[in-house]
Amino acid sequence: MHHAIQLDHTAPLSSGPLAWREVETPEPGPGQLRIAVAACGVCRSNLHMIEGDWAAGGLPAISPIVPGHEVTGTVDAIGPEVTGFALGDRVGVQPLWRTCEVCEYCTSGREQLCLERLITGEMVDGGYAEYMISTAAHTYHVPDELDLVTAAPLFCPGITAYGAIAKLDLGPGSRLAVFGLGGVGHMAVQFARIAGAEVTAVARSAHHLEVARELGAAHTVDATAADPGEALAGTMDAAVVFAPSDTVAQQALASVKRGGTVVTGVIASFGTITFAEGKTIAESILGSRAQMNEVLALAARGDVRTVVDLFPMADAQDVLGRLAGRELRSRAVLHN
Ligand SMILES: [Zn+2]
Ligand SMILES: [Zn+2]
Repeated sequence: MHHAIQLDHTAPLSSGPLAWREVETPEPGPGQLRIAVAACGVCRSNLHMIEGDWAAGGLPAISPIVPGHEVTGTVDAIGPEVTGFALGDRVGVQPLWRTCEVCEYCTSGREQLCLERLITGEMVDGGYAEYMISTAAHTYHVPDELDLVTAAPLFCPGITAYGAIAKLDLGPGSRLAVFGLGGVGHMAVQFARIAGAEVTAVARSAHHLEVARELGAAHTVDATAADPGEALAGTMDAAVVFAPSDTVAQQALASVKRGGTVVTGVIASFGTITFAEGKTIAESILGSRAQMNEVLALAARGDVRTVVDLFPMADAQDVLGRLAGRELRSRAVLHN
């Protein structure tokens, strides 16, 4: 037996739908690992699932479910037919828990688009727990240079930001605006800076703008003081949007010049699109396994870092409440 945070029914967080309770410790099946969880990042999408925002889309897919999809830990048990892992290996799991391995997406390095994909903590039990089962083919070795607890957000904000930046052809001198500076935006600033881009960070939080400057943003726009769409109008080569707001999406589109590209990692309406300026809007979800390993290598070299606040695993409900209330200053990470 072990402890896990379980959600029985979707409900407003204020009604206390999560319970820290003893559950059966599962055995890993063929191709699977059991991970002793060290840490799991707290993602806004966890909140959406818990409160039922995605119930119409069939999520969570099982009940009860253990949320959490940016997980690190050590290999605690190894199922049949697994190669490449030993007991005690330091590992991580991202939201992509399993893919089919045979479809056009899986065989072309775009497995995050697989129609059979299973999402950690939404369709199978995730990382708000002392132990979880992973698919070995979607489990990553965490480099020795990285601390397991601070590495956890690399597995959602990290790969999400990297996948979005990889959709852009950034080089030295490119001008990129990053709209929204939560966990993902802070990572995007760093990946864009590595590509040589001149980054303008846009947000409503003075603290988030300050962190963005520390992480390499050359310019910042305080969205509470000026309309960033007007302040930056037509000056950016590209923009990325990680704030789930129609207003912000439209400001991002206005900020890019003719022929520019906006990449979005959130659900938002861009309004009426005019063809005359030749702009491109691209959706981005997560990233491939190859890209995840590139993120880990960059972090191991010290080229990117996460900004985290740590909390005990049992406090998940309280931490999600603080996230909902915008009381968190950086990425919350739950640890055992
Ligand atoms: Zn996430
Ligand atoms: Zn597939």
